[in-house]
Amino acid sequence: MGKNDFQTVVVGGGAIGSATAYWLAVRGQTDVLVLEQHTTGHGLGSSGDHSRIIRHSYHDTIYGRLTHRMYDNWARLERESAQGVFVRTGGLDIAIDGTPGADIIDNYRRVMASNEIPFDTLDKKQLGERFPQWNILEEEVRATYQEDSGLIDIRRATLTHLALAESLGVIVKENTAVQVIESFHGGVRIVTGDASYTADKVVVAIGSWVDQILGPLGQTWNTTIAEEQIVYVRTPHVKDFSVGRFPVWGWHGDDLFYGFPTYGEVAVKIGRENLRRFVTQETRSPDPHEDETAVLLDFLKERLPTAVGPVLYAKTCPYDLPPDRHFILDFLPGHPGVVVGNGAAHAGKFAGLLGEILSELAVDGRSSFPIEPFRADRPALKDPGCIPDFTLKG
Ligand SMILES: Cc1cc2nc3c(=O)[nH]c(=O)nc-3n(C[C@H](O)[C@H](O)[C@H](O)COP(=O)(O)OP(=O)(O)OC[C@H]3O[C@@H](n4cnc5c(N)ncnc54)[C@H](O)[C@@H]3O)c2cc1C
Repeated sequence: MGKNDFQTVVVGGGAIGSATAYWLAVRGQTDVLVLEQHTTGHGLGSSGDHSRIIRHSYHDTIYGRLTHRMYDNWARLERESAQGVFVRTGGLDIAIDGTPGADIIDNYRRVMASNEIPFDTLDKKQLGERFPQWNILEEEVRATYQEDSGLIDIRRATLTHLALAESLGVIVKENTAVQVIESFHGGVRIVTGDASYTADKVVVAIGSWVDQILGPLGQTWNTTIAEEQIVYVRTPHVKDFSVGRFPVWGWHGDDLFYGFPTYGEVAVKIGRENLRRFVTQETRSPDPHEDETAVLLDFLKERLPTAVGPVLYAKTCPYDLPPDRHFILDFLPGHPGVVVGNGAAHAGKFAGLLGEILSELAVDGRSSFPIEPFRADRPALKDPGCIPDFTLKG
């Protein structure tokens, strides 16, 4: 019979759970079990793709002040594993003057300045000279370029964290869905289909599945799931859109469109914050929506015309949205053995840091980072009348 008592059990082997397992081991806690309902590196959660944008540009300082350590932790992972997970591409944020998007860019600049992050401001002419791939018709453009922006190879990062954790003694069990968590004085019990485990602490990092497991424990908020979509487009002009010539980007118009240079596939990737297709775990589908593919291709035709080419593939991915779209990094109220890690659908870039924070909570009971805004008992999570606001807080 296998071992069934651990210091800490991590539920969820996605970007955040894998980083937590690694950091627990780094902090000396190797009596750790990770339970993942699918195979590791699968594509059904939020961490199964090649790339996530990483950037210092956040318009809320509660995130901006964490970005230095965020970068440090990816550098550490690369050092420890000799695997590349961060690709520095530079990053462009663009809006048309006089639109709400321009205010967002102003906020980015303010937060970066307050964190002593250097950045370039570009007008239409400068933007055209540096990045002629962009087709800007409007006269007044507000653009910011930040050289440290880039991408995290999120699937690779997840698998790298798991590999290092395992090398330090952590046990990872795939195809093992947790059905129930019970909490009692001094510990927790974690029940799967064919086993039951006890532990001092459980860290629950199950992304868009969180309500299923923590709902029965009295979780006070609802997690909304948005079915987002990305498309890989086989541009014929691969050189123009390669890393080094073309940065990651965000277009702050009526919608936020974003994209990547060719990476992971010989294709550019584009997406938008859609936030219109709300689904459940039962109704969601990995299959792309043709109308969304058309919207993304139309954007490319208008703004990045030489990127246009045949669609390589498109797929959906779940956004896990707490009512105020802020992270949740805390003990579940009333359950001192249950730690919650939720990335509010913008935590790919932060996963390496969130793993460290969650390991601190599990081992020390508190974090050395400023995570007060991410408490699980904040009003937006406690008040059933709270009107959700899913706008990106960064
Ligand atoms: C289209 C899209 C674009 C994004 N772009 C960016 C970006 O550019 N930059 C950025 O920083 N972030 C971005 N994000 C957000 C980022 O990808 C997520 O915040 C991050 O990947 C979340 O990781 P996670 O570990 O919380 O969730 P997941 O990767 O979903 O991992 C949760 C894991 O828990 C497992 N699980 C669930 N229930 C159970 C159970 N009962 N028992 C056992 N295991 C279970 C699941 O199988 C899954 O593997 C994007 C997300 C999407 C969808």
